[in-house]
Amino acid sequence: MYMYEYQAKKVFREAGLPVPAGYLAAGPEEVRKAAAHLNRSAVVKAQVRAGGRGKAGLVRLADSPDATFQAAGDILGKVHHGEVVKMVLVEESLNIAHELYAGVILDLSKGQPVVLLSSQGGVNIEEVAEKAPEALIRLEINPLEPEIPMYRWLEAWRKVGLTGPQLIKASEISAKMLRLFFRADAFVVEINPLAVTGTGDVIAADAKLIVDDSSLYRHQEFYEYKDHSHHPLESEALQAGVSFVPLNEDGFIGIIAGGAGLSMATMDAIVEQGASPAVFIDLGGGISEAGMSESLKIMMKTPGINGIIINVFGGINNCEIMAKGIQRAWPDRIVNVPVVVKMRGHSQEEGWAILEEMGIPLIKYGTTDEAIKLLLEKVAS
Ligand code: GDP
Ligand code: MN
Repeated sequence: MYMYEYQAKKVFREAGLPVPAGYLAAGPEEVRKAAAHLNRSAVVKAQVRAGGRGKAGLVRLADSPDATFQAAGDILGKVHHGEVVKMVLVEESLNIAHELYAGVILDLSKGQPVVLLSSQGGVNIEEVAEKAPEALIRLEINPLEPEIPMYRWLEAWRKVGLTGPQLIKASEISAKMLRLFFRADAFVVEINPLAVTGTGDVIAADAKLIVDDSSLYRHQEFYEYKDHSHHPLESEALQAGVSFVPLNEDGFIGIIAGGAGLSMATMDAIVEQGASPAVFIDLGGGISEAGMSESLKIMMKTPGINGIIINVFGGINNCEIMAKGIQRAWPDRIVNVPVVVKMRGHSQEEGWAILEEMGIPLIKYGTTDEAIKLLLEKVAS
């Protein structure tokens, strides 16, 4: 789960990490209130998941409540890497003297977390690693000994060039950051920039937090941050015991297949033939007649569907039951686009007989490519 900055900053604050005071605002009214609360210069930041907002003009400094209101108006509704800006974070602006970098990432190839610290914050850390590797400190963390003694933090930040109170503050912050990384079951905790202000404070101007979805069951505190919105048809599919996976909004072929692997292989084969898949429904194992007929009905509710390929194998599933499920959806005349079925395996003869009697184009021994070719011919004619 990739948190928004405002969510990550809330988690940071609770973990004792210093973050600027701020308010989330979803529209002009809320922006006005936030600006009035701060009643001075502010920074307005688009709440979207992709980074690089600064460069895209989606982080704006404003020196009065009116300017704050203006800046928010400019930012709201903009699109950043495909995501519409629906919320802004209005924060007290920091007088940044210097930008540091502090992050922990899970290095999957080594199976351990790595802490990265740098005197060159504010820019992409990959760029620092490439152009100024000497400005980047790496600390490999043994997951069995997650606490790093304070002297090592001090040593690391001293190498980066910090001295005096900033050295101590940055060390304390990075120690808390690493503790948060473990406690939150995070993949990434990143503070970029970790700002050193004109008055010598050290504070997280930005916050990135990605936590492992598989651990959410033990993180009640993150539950509210999870995006529970899904495609309405996804919920319907869930009810029918199948999975609905949207692919391309401008796609026009629907895939019903047994297993996500076969679904994706079918998707690739469709793209290879120059057509665009809109969605796949994965039947999973043990599909019932009702589950199959519901899947067809859900597929027909998907906007833009011009043809359906049913690509199934009778293993755990039974071809006769699947064919009966298709048959069950027919009398309603809901399915009014070409359908091609490729089906073999358990009880194939019985299944084929049903489909043949219905006059549904059927691939018995051929390949998925042949089934798609046949379907695309029918869609085109
Ligand atoms: P990102 O570009 O999406 O990573 O967004 P950031 O939150 O990191 O903001 C981008 C840049 O805006 C930072 O590197 C800072 O240089 C600048 N910035 C953000 N907040 C403030 C602030 O309060 N005061 C000042 N002066 N600059 C800020
Ligand atoms: Mn940043």
